[in-house]
Amino acid sequence: MDDLQCPHCGMALTPIELPEVTGWSSPFHLACMNDDCPYYRESWRWLEQRFGVKAGYRYRLDPETGKASPLPVWSPTALKDHILDAEVTRQRLSPVRVSTAS
Ligand SMILES: [Zn+2]
Repeated sequence: MDDLQCPHCGMALTPIELPEVTGWSSPFHLACMNDDCPYYRESWRWLEQRFGVKAGYRYRLDPETGKASPLPVWSPTALKDHILDAEVTRQRLSPVRVSTAS
């Protein structure tokens, strides 16, 4: 089991800088930036059907808490300029407890 992969599509999660630092303890989050991710694709369809909104969300993991939550995006390229160069390895994450334990 790999903590750093999207559970929906298996792509490696990408570290992104948070657009706003409100209420998050982590300096960055990990997100699935795969445009073909089923979670992401489904979110667009769902939001449009339900609310007529052209938006979606990506799978996002808070490395500090190990908790996943949806990351709202307003376009397929949204937040792509927030991708961090940093190499986030499992070693680097391990001190901040990425938990998949249930
Ligand atoms: Zn994914």
